[in-house]
Amino acid sequence: GEALAVSARVAPLGSRLVLLLVEDLTEARRIEAVRRDFVANVSHELKTPVGALSLLSEAVMDASDDPEAVTRFAGRMQIEATRLTNLVQELIDLSRVQNDDPLEDAEPVRVDTLVAEAVDRCRHTAATKQITMAAGGTADLWVWGHRGQLAAALGNLVENAVNYSPARTRVGIAGRRVTAPGGDLIEIAVTDQGIGIPEKDRERIFERFYRVDPARSRATGGTGLGLAIVKHVAASHGGEVSVWSSEGQGSTFTLRLPEAAAPAQPKPAHRTEP
Ligand code: ADP
Repeated sequence: GEALAVSARVAPLGSRLVLLLVEDLTEARRIEAVRRDFVANVSHELKTPVGALSLLSEAVMDASDDPEAVTRFAGRMQIEATRLTNLVQELIDLSRVQNDDPLEDAEPVRVDTLVAEAVDRCRHTAATKQITMAAGGTADLWVWGHRGQLAAALGNLVENAVNYSPARTRVGIAGRRVTAPGGDLIEIAVTDQGIGIPEKDRERIFERFYRVDPARSRATGGTGLGLAIVKHVAASHGGEVSVWSSEGQGSTFTLRLPEAAAPAQPKPAHRTEP
């Protein structure tokens, strides 16, 4: 009688434990599946340029008596090599932002500096496409975080704005302070007049390797990792990134980050009168 009573009392607990265990296993399986997908994606992305390089080097050898063809093939080899370099660099960036705690090296970072760096990074492509870049409202704004990671995040947003826009359009970067219950936030919005993002893809573009149009992404040297890096950096800084878009009209990516107090200015040296 007692054993029955005990087991009746234990049974509900047991089933709860089993349930927890099952949930735990499901989560572990999900993480494992994500990891497997990631490795499969990386392998696939690496294979494409490596395969092309291998074919092109054979073509160069076969064309050794045709200097024009050799030049053509060498040019294409350079494109594939750049693609490979970009991919490896972005993989390193992604693994850095996933493994390093940005707040360990956090400091007040001037938004103006981040914007200038991001614009500089795209200057060449923007000039080629005659895209005008304009920034406003960023003066005297400071964010709290890891300088390198924040630069990578904003750089990716501006780079995408330039890459996914037609020639002779405008890319705007606007900063402002937003009052929020947990402390003021700094908002940096990057707006383009580009191709836009279909509604059904808007959630998924922040996933690693997700692209709306893979061919277009590759043509611009894209890796499909940029927005995953941006999202990770925003989250680990206690901020967020969001997107507004209208197909065929353009997109706005908004980065919200915790504000930092401007560091105290060193006092200008006075000449004291004797
Ligand atoms: P990619 O290296 O392909 O640019 P990202 O992770 O930076 O990878 O972006 C993922 C996808 O989101 C891109 O392939 C593109 O389809 C879409 N996307 C990102 N930014 C923009 C933008 N400003 N305008 C239109 N589409 C964009």
